[in-house]
Amino acid sequence: MEDLLPDTFWELVVAALVLMAGAVVVEIGFTFDINRWQESKRKWEEKKLRTKCPHATFIKEGDQYGFESTFSIIFGTEWWRCGKCGLETHDIRGSKRMIERFASNRELYRKQENEFIRAHKKLYG
Ligand SMILES: [Zn+2]
Repeated sequence: MEDLLPDTFWELVVAALVLMAGAVVVEIGFTFDINRWQESKRKWEEKKLRTKCPHATFIKEGDQYGFESTFSIIFGTEWWRCGKCGLETHDIRGSKRMIERFASNRELYRKQENEFIRAHKKLYG
């Protein structure tokens, strides 16, 4: 009986240590996954934001109005960057077509801009 006690004691200590180590590992794994999950969620929201962005801005002078691309060339490259959503692309032909469509249908731009603002609020508050 006297021999049994220390054995059980050390077994308990080892078991406790194993459990604690396990808990630490689980916790690290959990925090890591949360961060990764938040990161991938943020990236997903950013992607969504970029699909909603009209990549254009409304301009009005007197009774004249029009739309201007928000893409500007990244200095020293052949890439364009949208000043509104941060999208980088080397082909802005799609954006030019969109601007033509906005010019003939202002409502289309208004809708897209509203969706963009909503997505922007969701992402950055
Ligand atoms: Zn954009």
